[in-house]
Amino acid sequence: MIGIQLTYKAPETLKEALDLVGREGHQILTADQSLISDLKKGVPSLHTLVSLRKIPGLSSINIDNGELRIGASASYNSLLTHEALNQYPALAQALATIPDPHLRHHSTFGGALSHGGRIHAPVLAALMALDASVVVLTRDNDTRLPIHYFSQNGNRVLLPQGGLITMIVLPEPAAKSSAYLTVNQLAGRQANHGIAISLTQSGDTLDQIRLILAGFTEQPIRLKNIEEKLAGSSLTPDSIKSAADQLGQDELPIHNDRIPEGYQRHLAGVLLQRALKSLTKQTVS
Ligand SMILES: Cc1cc2nc3c(=O)[nH]c(=O)nc-3n(C[C@H](O)[C@H](O)[C@H](O)COP(=O)(O)OP(=O)(O)OC[C@H]3O[C@@H](n4cnc5c(N)ncnc54)[C@H](O)[C@@H]3O)c2cc1C
Repeated sequence: MIGIQLTYKAPETLKEALDLVGREGHQILTADQSLISDLKKGVPSLHTLVSLRKIPGLSSINIDNGELRIGASASYNSLLTHEALNQYPALAQALATIPDPHLRHHSTFGGALSHGGRIHAPVLAALMALDASVVVLTRDNDTRLPIHYFSQNGNRVLLPQGGLITMIVLPEPAAKSSAYLTVNQLAGRQANHGIAISLTQSGDTLDQIRLILAGFTEQPIRLKNIEEKLAGSSLTPDSIKSAADQLGQDELPIHNDRIPEGYQRHLAGVLLQRALKSLTKQTVS
């Protein structure tokens, strides 16, 4: 039994919601998935829940100016069943790895980004590979935060005071190929270990590449040095192998006692090589 008295408010407009969320002791709720676990941990001074359920438009998913705009209250499943997702294979494949149907149907993008948690790492990694941004509204302005902001600061993300996520925006995919790869291993215990990749090529040459590992570190990690080394080059079996050899402690700082470090580093190398080969089959045998 959790002995706490809470007031529930359900504003009908964004303006009303913003007036409430900046106040002390008020907490936003979208689909309430994290409420019980948060209350068990104890949330000091919480006295009012501000539900976003009644605000129109926050669950919509649409294409505007070539961008895919995902409302913060849209569920994972509503995007999974949306035809626009065909353009973003990395995100479709990452969403499909969320093992629990309850979470797939009820987790919202705004709630998951704000709450953090390893279960959402594949989705965050795919959004990072696709250069997503997040629209955060406050009473004074609206800001577009780059998605990598949400992979910092440990588990819980600090939004600007009184801030509310309204939308996740994916740029037009243009000629970008993308994928999210994972492995079935150890009775599914590490199902959230995976890699998100996106790239553009001119002929055999890689123009731009994003490589994000999920599940190895507390938050998904971008392999910037490897990206820089590969951009502007043509992939060969040797360059792919040498990219995997670069996954030392500097590039991938593993601090997880449950799973042997050597095993994780090997797994990361295998995923990286498979990801590079999967999107560049035409140039690498
Ligand atoms: C059965 C079950 C199993 C679960 N298992 C796991 C698990 O294994 N691992 C794990 O990590 N999590 C787990 N969770 C929690 C899960 O991560 C939630 O999906 C996640 O918290 C998002 O929930 P939500 O969309 O309902 O958001 P809510 O719970 O409504 O909100 C989550 C947080 O985000 C904030 N927030 C919500 N919307 C916005 C917004 N638009 N702008 C700004 N802030 C916002 C809220 O204030 C709150 O702090 C589980 C939950 C359930 C019910």
